[in-house]
Amino acid sequence: MPAMQFHKPTSLDEAIALLASDPEAMPLAGGATLVAMMNAELIEPSALVSLGAIDELQMVEAAADGGVRIGAMVCHAALAADARLAAGHAVVRQAAAEIAHPTVRNIGTIGGAVAHGDPSSDLPAALVAADAVIEAAGPAGRRDIAAEDFFEDYLTTALEEVEMVAAIRLPASPAGAAGHYEKFARVHGDYATLSVAVMLAMAGGECSFTRIALAAAGPKPVRIEAAETRLVGSSLDDGAIADAANLLVEASDPVDDVRGSAEFRLMLVPRLLARAIAVARSQTEGGGA
Ligand SMILES: Cc1cc2nc3c(=O)[nH]c(=O)nc-3n(C[C@H](O)[C@H](O)[C@H](O)COP(=O)(O)OP(=O)(O)OC[C@H]3O[C@@H](n4cnc5c(N)ncnc54)[C@H](O)[C@@H]3O)c2cc1C
Repeated sequence: MPAMQFHKPTSLDEAIALLASDPEAMPLAGGATLVAMMNAELIEPSALVSLGAIDELQMVEAAADGGVRIGAMVCHAALAADARLAAGHAVVRQAAAEIAHPTVRNIGTIGGAVAHGDPSSDLPAALVAADAVIEAAGPAGRRDIAAEDFFEDYLTTALEEVEMVAAIRLPASPAGAAGHYEKFARVHGDYATLSVAVMLAMAGGECSFTRIALAAAGPKPVRIEAAETRLVGSSLDDGAIADAANLLVEASDPVDDVRGSAEFRLMLVPRLLARAIAVARSQTEGGGA
């Protein structure tokens, strides 16, 4: 068996060229998942292309319009500690803070989590709720993919062969918005049994904007516009939340696994949704009254 190659390019173009030249090569971010899969002999890359020395992937930049651009190699711990992820973007900061334990949060990166596309992981649902845009880079250049379209199926994303995640952009959240990520796990640090990611804004006692996405409720983050439409214009009363939860349950298709049965996961939807909305609402400007 030929020895595995290891490359450490210093630019994204160089990384893309290395990946394009060898179909069996794989990008290496934190390695938390990739190395575990190699150890389990699930994958056997011919080469690893480390993204660790590419400066542009390491940065978090706040734009003047309130948007935030997060480089693919930013680790979960850095995101969890970044005060610029405030207001509606707090949903992403909180999701990062809920991932596993400090060791994993110091190793795992947002780009790795997004590219892996595990529907039980925390960031994909939070990014869908935040209306995030994934910046992909490949031999044909760069393109933007809405997070909602990026996650296609279980461990399947819209990335083409050789395409990489370069960054994740969070558009400015609506004025006065707040975000919250409500995770239910068997024990602290486990993957979610179910999570609800919410961003919402209030105006005059009514919900003026909301985005909701579920993690671990199907083969990709579950977002259903009808649930959001049901809440907008309501006072977020119990009836509106119950209707929205029913719509989300209908759209969900969770698995039975060690973290919970499909039935149990569906039972969690209304409970976690109500909790997530209550917390987010209490943090909106004027919404907690
Ligand atoms: C013990 C343990 C517990 C965990 N618990 C949780 C949890 O509770 N919640 C949660 O959300 N996650 C959890 N994770 C996942 C973890 O947080 C990371 O998100 C995940 O490992 C991927 O990030 P990484 O940087 O390590 O990517 P890697 O392991 O380096 O890569 C993962 C995959 O993505 C590809 N890749 C990496 N970066 C890019 C890129 N920029 N562009 C294209 N492809 C890329 C790699 O080739 C590989 O196929 C856990 C992981 C471990 C090991």
